[in-house]
Amino acid sequence: MTNVRFDGMVTSLEDVQDNPARFATRLERAKRSPGYAERLCQSAGGGKPLRLVIRRYGALFQLARWPDEGMHHNPDLCSFFADTTDAGSSSITGQEAIRNTAAGLDARLDVSLTVRTVEKARRENSENATLHAESRRSAPLLGFLRRVWQDARLNHWSAEAQRDWGTCSARILAALGDGKMNGKQIQDVVHVMRRYEESELPIIKAEFDAFLGRIHATPTTSDRCVIIAEIKAIDPSKYGFVIRLRQTFETFYVSKTLIENAA
Ligand SMILES: [Zn+2]
Repeated sequence: MTNVRFDGMVTSLEDVQDNPARFATRLERAKRSPGYAERLCQSAGGGKPLRLVIRRYGALFQLARWPDEGMHHNPDLCSFFADTTDAGSSSITGQEAIRNTAAGLDARLDVSLTVRTVEKARRENSENATLHAESRRSAPLLGFLRRVWQDARLNHWSAEAQRDWGTCSARILAALGDGKMNGKQIQDVVHVMRRYEESELPIIKAEFDAFLGRIHATPTTSDRCVIIAEIKAIDPSKYGFVIRLRQTFETFYVSKTLIENAA
């Protein structure tokens, strides 16, 4: 476990990730000046600590890797380590379904975030999609989640003593950054739920409702979004499965095929 420093204080990264509300005021102050936090995992050239981006998510803040500095972090101890530069040497052609940019993840999914509910419009839409697919590939949702998990280095264990949804959600947010999904701002179409705490339930619900409130349906189109959350239970139902999330009381219905593919 290594520490982070901001606003004149030093604490563990896990503490910040698990308790974003407690550090919100201090992180906001550090974001204004000097504009970054510091990670004390290992000295970069010149003996200075590595900078971290302070990103705002609604009322809260999380720390993220500074662009192009991933390789300077300690690969064994630090979750901000990245093998290559964030710009990604693989994006030369610009045709990858998911690529890393300085701002964050830029993903093109093979599912549309706007579904046209009128037959004629849908046909035009699919023709456009075919043309578009020749210039850039697209990824399925499961591939997107897997890439996010890898980019957030949640497939690695470093020096952290434990990992809960606070850590997972903070790292996922950092990996997404201010990126894009199907050309839209990723923060507008992807909701990452914060860690469940009974005392914070009203805030968690308000944040979720505010997100859902931005997902519109008109007589001809219906918006879709992506929710990344902690699963509480997957139970068989009459027609497939029912998923319950840790943070909300809503239930989500999924097919047997989808559960099998995910497994
Ligand atoms: Zn580091």
